[in-house]
Amino acid sequence: MRKPIEEKTDKIRQRLSDLLNEGPMLPGSIKKQWNVCGMPGCRCKDPNDPRKHGPYFQLSFTLAGKSTSMFVKEEEFALMMVMTERYRRFKALSLLLVHRLPPAQ
Ligand SMILES: [Zn+2]
Repeated sequence: MRKPIEEKTDKIRQRLSDLLNEGPMLPGSIKKQWNVCGMPGCRCKDPNDPRKHGPYFQLSFTLAGKSTSMFVKEEEFALMMVMTERYRRFKALSLLLVHRLPPAQ
């Protein structure tokens, strides 16, 4: 007879496996940002109606203890969002699996 803990972890393992089959993952989060440049008289510094440059999409992540960020092209934004969301689900599921494992005897 199977123990309930194994049934629970089996479900999580299956969900993890499904997730891995969905496609590649990307750590971190993507933020939309607008910038102000240094050019005098530019629209971004207009005293009455400042219009910043952008939006720019920036991916920031920490991997192996190292923080990195990079710009993402607008046409890649949607795909990158899917990939970072996938990684978030991967981390959450992995944590569930670890928490459900029985402690060492
Ligand atoms: Zn400007």
